[in-house]
Amino acid sequence: MMRLAFIAAECEPWAKAGGLADVVDALARALGRIPDGTGELVDVFLPRYRGVPVPEETRDTGAVVVPDPRAIGSRATVGVQETETHGYRLRLIDYPPAFDRADIYGYEDDPWRFGLFCRAALEVLRSDAVPPDVIHVHDWHACPAVLYRDLFYADDPLLRDAATMLTIHNLAYQGWIPRSELPQLGLDPDNRILAPDPAGLDLLWAGIEHADIVTTVSPGFAHEALTREGGFGLDGALRWKGDRFTGIINGIDADIWDPATDTDLAATYNRADRAGKATCRARLLAEVGLDPDDAGPVIGVIGRLDHQKGFDILADAADRAVIGGARLIVLGSGDSTIAAGLRDLAEGWPDAVVFIEKFDRALARRIYAGSDFFLMPSRFEPCGTGQMIAMRYGTPPIVHRTGGLRDTVIDETANPGQGTGFVFDEPTPASLLDGVRRAVEFFPYAGQHASEWEALVDRAMAVDFDWERSSAPAYMTAYRRAVEVARSGVPVAAGAAGDRAPVPTPP
Ligand code: ADP
Repeated sequence: MMRLAFIAAECEPWAKAGGLADVVDALARALGRIPDGTGELVDVFLPRYRGVPVPEETRDTGAVVVPDPRAIGSRATVGVQETETHGYRLRLIDYPPAFDRADIYGYEDDPWRFGLFCRAALEVLRSDAVPPDVIHVHDWHACPAVLYRDLFYADDPLLRDAATMLTIHNLAYQGWIPRSELPQLGLDPDNRILAPDPAGLDLLWAGIEHADIVTTVSPGFAHEALTREGGFGLDGALRWKGDRFTGIINGIDADIWDPATDTDLAATYNRADRAGKATCRARLLAEVGLDPDDAGPVIGVIGRLDHQKGFDILADAADRAVIGGARLIVLGSGDSTIAAGLRDLAEGWPDAVVFIEKFDRALARRIYAGSDFFLMPSRFEPCGTGQMIAMRYGTPPIVHRTGGLRDTVIDETANPGQGTGFVFDEPTPASLLDGVRRAVEFFPYAGQHASEWEALVDRAMAVDFDWERSSAPAYMTAYRRAVEVARSGVPVAAGAAGDRAPVPTPP
C-alpha cells in the first residue's frame, strides 16, 4: 500500500489548459486500479478556479491557515473541499483572491497564487491521520511544495519522511521569480542558499534540486532535455540529477478516448469494424464547411497556438502548396499572431483549409475521428497526447521526430508494413511538406493501395497506450525508488558532481 498525494495546477475534467490535465486525472485513476498500485485512492490537490464544475457530492472539509504576505495579518484562511466521484480524492483549495479569476494561468502574480496553493496543500496533508508516502508534484506550479517541505516541514511528523517526486510535463515553463519578489512566496530574499542565482529563483530548478526523483513524460524527451539544445537552460541541473532523472511515457485513458463509445461522434466504430469512421468523416467535413464528397485526404490539427506546437511552420508550408491536394482542419486557441497566420491561410484557401479558433472538447473528438491524418509539427514535445488519441481513433499521425512523438509513432516510409504513421526530421516547412507528401502518397486514391492503407490504420489502432497497462506500473516503480532515495538520506543526486544543482543557464 502506498499513499500518494498529487499537487497540480490542472486536472481534467475540472480544469484543463493542455495535456497536463489529462495526465494528472488518468494517472491518479489508474494508480488506484492496477493490481500492484496504491490499493487506495490517490489525493489530487487542485486550486478551485472559477468555473470548476464542482459535483454535488463535494463536501467542505474545513479550512487551513497559511502565511500570506497579501492578507490582512499576513495569514490567509483557505477553504478545502473534497469529492471522491472520479476515482481519486479531489481536494480543492479554495481561495478566491488567488483563484476566482477568468483563466487558470497568465497572471503576473502566478508565483504567489501557486505558492499559496502549495502551502495550503501541505497544511491539509499535515492535518490528515496518515502520512503520505510520496508527494508527487507536477510542473513548476507545484514546485514550491517540495521547497516548502524541505524548508518549513523538515521536522513535521507527517511530512518529514514523505518522498518527493517532480514530473516535468513542460520544460519551457519554469516559474521565474525575481529576488525582490521572493517574499510573495514566503521566502527570504537574502537567502542565497535557497536561491543561489543573484537574479532570483527558477521554481522548476528548485523542484529539480529538491525532489528525490524527477521524471519527464517520455524517454525521448528525457534524452533531449539533457542536452544544451533541448534543456531550456536546465540541462545542467538535470544532468546533475544523474539516474534520479528518467522519462516515463504518458498513456491515454482507453475508456475516455474510445471511438466505440464516444458520444460526441456522429457514429461509433472500433478496430474490427470501422464503417462508422466514414460517417464521422462526412459529418465532420459538412460541419466545418468542406465538401464531404471529396475523397482526398483530410488532415486534422489540434492544439494550443504556441511557438512549441509549430503551427506557424504549418502555415508557412501550407501557403506554398496546399499540401498535395490535402485539406486541413485546424482547431486551436492561444497566440494571436499564430492565429492570424492561420486565419490568412484559411482565407486564401477557402475550399481546402478551415481554421476554428476556440477550445472545444467535442469538436476535437470529431476531428480525431473524422480526419484521415493527424498532424503534429511540434518543435519540441515532451510527450504529446494528440498522436496517441489519433492512433486510437484510426487516424495515422504525421509528426516531427522529437520527444515523445518519436517514441510513439513508427514511420511507415522507413519501416514499410510496420509503421503507425509518418515521421519527418526537421521542424521546417520543407521537412513538414516531405512528411505530408509521403503520407498523402500513401493515402488510397480510387482504391489504389487500399490494403496497405487499411493495414496501417489497423496497426495504429492496435497500439495500446492505456495507462493501466503501461505507464501507471512504471510510475509505481518510480515511487518505490523515490521512497528508497528518501530513506537513504543522501541529500544530493546520485553520482552528482558538486552538492548543488547548477543554476539555469540562459539558452
Ligand atoms: P499540451 O499539453 O502541450 O497542450 P498535449 O498534446 O499533451 O499538448 O495535449 C493537448 C490536449 O489538449 C489534447 O487532449 C488535445 O486534444 C487538447 N486540446 C488542445 N487544444 C485544444 C482545443 N483548441 N480544443 C479542444 N481540445 C484541445
